[in-house]
Amino acid sequence: PYFDVTVAPLPATLGGGALVTLIDTAPVEGAEQIRRDFVANVSHELRTPLTALIGFIETLRGPARNDAAARDRFLDIMERETHRMNRLVSDLLSLSRVESGERLRPVARVDLAVLLGGVATTLGPAAEKAGVRIELDTGDAPAWIPGDQDQLTQVFQNIIENAIKYGGSGGWVGIALREITHEPMLRGPAYSIEIADRGEGIDAIHLPRLTERFYRVDTHRSREKGGTGLGLAIVKHIVARHRGRLRIHSERGQGSRFTIVLPQASAAQPPAG
Ligand code: ADP
Repeated sequence: PYFDVTVAPLPATLGGGALVTLIDTAPVEGAEQIRRDFVANVSHELRTPLTALIGFIETLRGPARNDAAARDRFLDIMERETHRMNRLVSDLLSLSRVESGERLRPVARVDLAVLLGGVATTLGPAAEKAGVRIELDTGDAPAWIPGDQDQLTQVFQNIIENAIKYGGSGGWVGIALREITHEPMLRGPAYSIEIADRGEGIDAIHLPRLTERFYRVDTHRSREKGGTGLGLAIVKHIVARHRGRLRIHSERGQGSRFTIVLPQASAAQPPAG
């Protein structure tokens, strides 16, 4: 199934025989399969809350018509499901925007120290509610990189939110920003941002697939926490657009550490002169 084969007999003037062409169709089929899976996943993700909504509407019209307590409970669930669909659509739009602009290198300047401080403040109430202390260590100096402010905010918001949601049982989330004078993989100066938690961690078998769209370790738990399964896929694409690296270390029972390394200058740009 991976090759289209054509066989054309060659005329005697060219020495006879035959010309055999093999066209490798694997990449095209691969891309097509990924697209089909994606559409199936999206449909499934949308159908789950929709089915719940339809069920509750029918119940409210019928058996629960005069039951005030049931009505309140059902409306709460319906509200939650609607918000989840809304988040799913927002995440899908983010993903498609990030993917279509992936080759465009961001040019604006962003101070990572200020950006991380902002994200930590935004997530303060959620952390407090989950009983998690956020420890932020960004040093005193600004940390400028060429970057897209909104996209980088989304990256750190997703990872820190995950650390609170899934790693919050440890009661602590650490965010540390460090300068690296020479990062060999990026062939130049960079910043590393480490987000660590002391939660239950992730089994090694899941790690390679964690940034795939809709991949979750525990679907039920992700849904319960309002997750869409797209967060880390979005993170991966944004980091790629910034020519950075994402590394995930995790140990069951110990916690997880997400490290993002971002170059200080564009490695893709040729040196001036
Ligand atoms: P979701 O919307 O489900 O949170 P993500 O793409 O952000 O989707 O994360 C994918 C999965 O990775 C999550 O469902 C969860 O199982 C796992 N995960 C992410 N971060 C952590 C963490 N800090 N600790 C444990 N598991 C995590």
